[in-house]
Amino acid sequence: MPSHVAYLECGATGTRYEPGRLMNLSEAGKPLLVRYDLDAVEQAVDKATLAGRPRDMWRFRELLPVPEPSDVVSLGESVTPLVPLVAEPNVIVKDEGRLPTGSFKARGLAMAVTMARLLGATRLAIPTNGNAGAALAAYATRAGLASFVFCPADTPEVNVREIAMQGAEVWRVDGSITDCARIVTEGEEAMGWFDVATLREPYRLEGKKTMGLELAEQLDWTLPDVIVYPTGGGTGLIGMWKAFQELRELGWIEGPLPRMVAVQASGCAPIVRAWREGADHAEPWENAHTIASGIRVPAAIGDFLILRAIRESGGFAVDVDDEMIGSARVHLAGTEGILTSPEGAATYAGYRAALSKGVISEEERVVLFNCGNGLKYPMPPMDRVLEQPVDWSGFAA
Ligand SMILES: *Cc1c(COP(=O)(O)O)cnc(C)c1O
Repeated sequence: MPSHVAYLECGATGTRYEPGRLMNLSEAGKPLLVRYDLDAVEQAVDKATLAGRPRDMWRFRELLPVPEPSDVVSLGESVTPLVPLVAEPNVIVKDEGRLPTGSFKARGLAMAVTMARLLGATRLAIPTNGNAGAALAAYATRAGLASFVFCPADTPEVNVREIAMQGAEVWRVDGSITDCARIVTEGEEAMGWFDVATLREPYRLEGKKTMGLELAEQLDWTLPDVIVYPTGGGTGLIGMWKAFQELRELGWIEGPLPRMVAVQASGCAPIVRAWREGADHAEPWENAHTIASGIRVPAAIGDFLILRAIRESGGFAVDVDDEMIGSARVHLAGTEGILTSPEGAATYAGYRAALSKGVISEEERVVLFNCGNGLKYPMPPMDRVLEQPVDWSGFAA
């Protein structure tokens, strides 16, 4: 393949594997990471070349596993905007809700579906809290592949419907995403499924990595002080950290890297608990519950990679309860005009909590990730809706 992929590497043991065939986990049962020949990448592309390319995630193709642009399965993964807060201009929201299927899951699944098709898979299966299933359904359908989606029964109805409408077979499961994951693993052989669950194949991570590459380019190759990320399976956090290492090795960025901050919901905070205990791995969270369904992940297979990235970057993990998430969402919509997902709102709540504890200062440049389009989620009751006006005089300034 004319990509610059050198090999796949077990994230835990470092064992190397040949790329070029369908793979899930390493022999140690851990996620595989894609490693590149960065000298070859440096020869092939520079910042100036990048600047002239279309404004989408495939502009970084030398740092992605895709061999040919014509292999790409795409729905138009455009660069997402950086929106500074008016009241707190040091805080910038990267609005990933603008992507196809309304969440940043599009980045990972565009990449995973592209590679799965290229390597010969025909039936893709996924456990999901909603957005990953929607993205898989859309890209698999686009690629002419079958998709099978398993979500907890209490997944928001809009997600279940969009998954079905985009051509997947979708099941509601009486249980958590962990139970859904088990169904996929157990059915792999009998059903001929290829499992594209978070970090159970190497390429979703590479798609999510483009958030870090894109952020660096948008900020003129000067990264912010802090990145606050709503952490479920952790692909985005691990992926951005990977992106920054690669950019640093290429010599495209210098100086200290951002502190990576993982935000979780108090009703499901395995990473926060592990971080506080100084552990390398996270114990599964019992009775996980939160309105931020995208980060309701009781056990993440990449837990050690999330914790490693937080530590290496000098960051931390923080939890926020559903009430704080709800207030943050109302605040951002009502005072900034930014309608976030609950998970996106959680990053603002986490930022404010960190600010009040003094672990982030007001002078620092902070990027928050709004990971999903706010329109996909229930809105709080309307308190500002007026009846149709009959007398226009009231509108005079
Ligand atoms: C999946 C998802 C997350 C969590 O992302 P990870 O990279 O898997 O941790 C956060 N918010 C939303 C809206 C999601 O769909």
